[in-house]
Amino acid sequence: MRDWKVHELADNEGKWNLNILANLIPADILMKIAAIIPPKDEYGNDERVGIGRNNCGFSVAGMYNNICCHHEVEDNNMWRKAWRLKVPERVRTLVWMILHNRLLTNSLKNKMGLSHAMCEYCGDKEETTLHVMRDCPKAREVWTYVVPLSLRGIFFMGDLQHWIGFNLNSNSQRRGREDWSDFWALSCHCLWMWRNKECHDADFVRPHRPVRHILQLSEDYRNAVLNNSVALARNQVVTMIGWSPPKPLFIKLKTDGAYKDRQVAGCGGVLRGCQGEWLGSFAKWVGLCSAFIAELWGVVEGLRYAHQLGFRKVELNIDSEAVVRVLKDGTSNSMAGNSLLKHIRNLLAMDWIVEI
Ligand SMILES: [Zn+2]
Repeated sequence: MRDWKVHELADNEGKWNLNILANLIPADILMKIAAIIPPKDEYGNDERVGIGRNNCGFSVAGMYNNICCHHEVEDNNMWRKAWRLKVPERVRTLVWMILHNRLLTNSLKNKMGLSHAMCEYCGDKEETTLHVMRDCPKAREVWTYVVPLSLRGIFFMGDLQHWIGFNLNSNSQRRGREDWSDFWALSCHCLWMWRNKECHDADFVRPHRPVRHILQLSEDYRNAVLNNSVALARNQVVTMIGWSPPKPLFIKLKTDGAYKDRQVAGCGGVLRGCQGEWLGSFAKWVGLCSAFIAELWGVVEGLRYAHQLGFRKVELNIDSEAVVRVLKDGTSNSMAGNSLLKHIRNLLAMDWIVEI
């Protein structure tokens, strides 16, 4: 197969001949290939494309992200949760640093040759991030006050990533007024600030009642946000979403794509007339790709199908704003997206009227 060209892997109908590849390529890669539109003469000549965020230029970062599939993989939701904490910005930033394990603890300083690695308070324990935040008696003093006895085992167990995940994902540890993850983040911030002040300011004394201090901070912040939101409140308009018929002589094509984390994606759609009557529908197995690509596949298959059924005036409805935007802009950030877009442009340019 050394001299084969890519288009030889597609059959006469323009579909991938997956049987040929099935014995040569692992199944997960095969599913990724299935989600790419196969090449075809009518799509025009090959052209050079840039790999990266922009379509024309090459960037090392873009290439790296492409190879690692960073744009395709759903972000670890810990990061999203960290940025959605309802705490002051500096606290969110601290959580972000903890997640990266970048706090300048003695352990890290020691690796840089700047200090010994031990905790100033304990003396005989290495001061890692987890030590300052959880295991040092100074931190335990706060946590044992608020974490119920039944959860202490799991709270004081596991490595840093587990501990962060546990605290960002659970809101039930402390049935009090505030969200646990917000309280946890604020506590971490205080523990770190107090630790720093103790190191650098000889006169500093930790609050006598640390938990009460943290709760007060939390309440102050909540009140400030509340006051701000009252000041910024605007009238909201509630829009009911429902099916509306197409214009006279038009038919309506609705398409959708769906994807579940690390599972195969699919797309489908339905065609209906002015009276809401069913004119046709389709569904397709897409392969391994993002929700965005699955949505684009829905548009491709829907347009093909509508044209094949002989409809010449079509209103196209897509439920993804991102897809509508790229259809109007004409470019997307991914190569797979761009080849589908090119095909959609060809479909739209046929002998019919399609309104998006
Ligand atoms: Zn310590």
